[in-house]
Amino acid sequence: MANMKDAHTPLGCLAFEADIIDGKAFAAGLMARVKTEVDEIRSTGDKVPGLAVVLVGEDPASTVYVASKRRETQAAGMNSFEHRLPATTSQDDLLTLVGQLNADPTVHGILVQLPLPSHLDADAVIEAIDPAKDVDGFHIANAGKLAVGQTALVPCTPLGCIMLLKDRLDDLTGLHAVVVGRSNIVGKPMAQLLLQEDCTVTVAHRYSRDLPTLTRMADIVVVAVGRPEMVRGDWIKPGATVIDVGINRVIQDGKSRLVGDVAFAEMGHARAITPVPGGVGPMTIGCLLSNTLEAFRRAQARDAAAVKENL
Ligand code: NDP
Repeated sequence: MANMKDAHTPLGCLAFEADIIDGKAFAAGLMARVKTEVDEIRSTGDKVPGLAVVLVGEDPASTVYVASKRRETQAAGMNSFEHRLPATTSQDDLLTLVGQLNADPTVHGILVQLPLPSHLDADAVIEAIDPAKDVDGFHIANAGKLAVGQTALVPCTPLGCIMLLKDRLDDLTGLHAVVVGRSNIVGKPMAQLLLQEDCTVTVAHRYSRDLPTLTRMADIVVVAVGRPEMVRGDWIKPGATVIDVGINRVIQDGKSRLVGDVAFAEMGHARAITPVPGGVGPMTIGCLLSNTLEAFRRAQARDAAAVKENL
C-alpha cells in the first residue's frame, strides 16, 4: 500500500487521501508464490506445468504481451511453448494446432492471443480449447461453471481484481458493487466473482441510464469500458474502493501515456484506487500463471484418479 503523499503521482496534492493499490507489488508476491510451488513440483516429480501461447500475425501490442508472458512463464520455472503463426493462417490450421496442444500432456494451459486476424473466428477457436487447459477462462464451459458457482478456470483480469479487493477490504459481504462494462472477458465474470463474495451487484453498460447516480451508490466500483477517464470524481462516493481496469493510450502535451477509464486525479476522496499503469494490469499475468499451476494440479489429480481406477 502506498499513500499519495509519498508516491510518484500525476497529482502531488495533499488533499488526495485515497490509498493507491499497488498491483505491481501484489502481482510480484503472487508470482513468487507460484514460483515456489513450481520449484517444489520440479524437485519432487518429473513433470512441470507448461503454458502454450499461440500468436497469429504480428499485432504490435500482442507481440509485446506474448513476449512478456514467455518471460514470466520461464521466470516462474514453467515450460513455455510459443507458437507464432502467420497472419494468413487458416481457421483449419489454427484449429489443428489447438487440437495438438489439447492432446499434448506436457501442455497444461493454452492461451490463444486475442484479437485474431479478422478472417478467423475467435469464438470457434476458444471453444476448441480443452476447458481443462483454458487458462484464459474464456471457454463457455468455464464461463458456465463460474455462473453456477462450480470450480472453474476464471478469466485472469477479473480474478486479479477480486484478489486485490479481498486483500484490501477483507470481507466483501453485503457491499454494493457496480461493475461498469459487461464484456465476457472482464465485466460479466467480474460480476459473478463479486456475487460469490456476497456483494450486491449492479452491472452497467452503454445503455445504462444515469450512470453517475448508479456508481455513486456503490461501495466498490469496477470500471472496464475502454474510455479514457470516463468516470469522474463526482461519480464516486467518499470512501468507495475503485478498481480501474481500463488501459487507454492518449496523447497529452505531445506525449503518449497510458490512462485508465477513471479520472485518477479526481479520486482523492475514495478509500482506495488502482492506478494505471501499475494496478490491475500486472495482476493479469500473475493470474495467468496461477491458473496454469491450477490446471497442472487438476491434471495431476485426474491422472492419479485414473491410475487408481485401473488398479
Ligand atoms: P469491451 O470493449 O469488450 O467492453 C466494453 C464494455 O464497456 C461494454 O460492455 C460496453 O457496453 C461498455 N461501455 C462502453 N461505453 C460505455 C459507456 N459510455 N458507458 C457505459 N458502458 C460503456 O472491453 P473489455 O472489457 O475487453 O476491456 C475494457 C477495458 O479494459 C479496455 O480499456 C481494455 O484495454 C482494458 N483491459 C485491461 C486488461 C488488463 O489486463 N488490465 C485486460 C482486459 C481489458 P455494451 O456492452 O453495451 O457495448
